[in-house]
Amino acid sequence: MIYADNAATTRISDRAFEQMLPFLREQYGNASSQYSLGVKAKRAVEHARKQVAAAIGAEPSEITFTSGGSEANSWVLRCVAETYHNESIHIITSTIEHHSVLNACRALEQSGVEVTFLPVDNTGRVLVEDVKAAIKHNTKLVSIMLANNEIGTIQPITQIGAFLKGQDILFHTDAVQAVGHIPVDVDDLRVDFLTASAHKFNGAKGTGILYKRSGLNLPPLLFGGEQERGLRAGTENVAGIVSAGFAIEESISEMAEEAKRLRSMVEVTVEGIKEKIPSVRVNGDTKSCLPGTVNLGFNGISGESLMHLLDLKGICVSTSSACTSGKDEPSHVLLALGLSEQQAKSAIRISYGRYNTADEAKVIVKAVCDAYAKIIDNL
Ligand SMILES: *Cc1c(COP(=O)(O)O)cnc(C)c1O
Repeated sequence: MIYADNAATTRISDRAFEQMLPFLREQYGNASSQYSLGVKAKRAVEHARKQVAAAIGAEPSEITFTSGGSEANSWVLRCVAETYHNESIHIITSTIEHHSVLNACRALEQSGVEVTFLPVDNTGRVLVEDVKAAIKHNTKLVSIMLANNEIGTIQPITQIGAFLKGQDILFHTDAVQAVGHIPVDVDDLRVDFLTASAHKFNGAKGTGILYKRSGLNLPPLLFGGEQERGLRAGTENVAGIVSAGFAIEESISEMAEEAKRLRSMVEVTVEGIKEKIPSVRVNGDTKSCLPGTVNLGFNGISGESLMHLLDLKGICVSTSSACTSGKDEPSHVLLALGLSEQQAKSAIRISYGRYNTADEAKVIVKAVCDAYAKIIDNL
């Protein structure tokens, strides 16, 4: 099998797995318990918090663990709006956000919040001028993702953050695709909130990260005990949190080399496919983008049939994001780039990660070209 859908999820790293294992067996204490079994669990959670904080230039007290990126995104959107419950407020986001942001915004619209969904250019980038132009007297939150999960385009978060600084507007970025893959520093980005997810950087599924700049108030999404300083109730997923700490540390230490390796695999893939299929199109940006993710459009065929033929050969790629595939709708991200419905439906996303090899990229080139020829023959 060749797994090339690392933007959907990643295989857990051996190190992260080894480190989390004891907390599922011998060290199963509740981190809130006062005896040593609990204290050890608590200590492990706090160690992971330091690891995560160090990885993004934050303080440990600014990190809260959640059940995932979706929970962290929902939390920020819902609860920032909640703090202004009696005012009519305005939120700015983009049309290419992950559904955990988009659908949270749509829900907020139902409750009277005004939301501006900014368009993107044909490479998938939000323009800083558009953010500036969209600001209203009652704008309270801007939420723009750091890197897109379907096309890999990196957004000008630093520039948007610099523009928003000093204004009374909170700034959130969904950095789920970025953390562990490209350098992320909350001070450079000038964000107030940042979300990440362990299973996107070779940690376990079910652990998310919310960075909240110290001093800011965010009401809890969940109620219960005093876990996570009373911000996020519920018995901690100790093993998952431990995996997040070690996985993020490992990803950061290998990041520069790994990015180079993944970029060259993407290049081999695109160039190889272009040789046989000159009409293939790269959707997104080829310069400012994630190292391992590429979205390709094939004229006149369906990305879904291509994906299924690759699956028969044991190759996992996706048509768009894991959250939207399965519905027969064209990707909202690809439509936002200005592609037609048919073009949007002709795309596949290949996303390489830690466990892919250069040889696999060559196998994928051949498999894609063969599958494409087969589909064209049968038209
Ligand atoms: C995967 C993903 C999420 C959701 O994270 P989960 O931990 O799976 O809930 C949010 N945003 C982006 C950009 C993602 O790629």
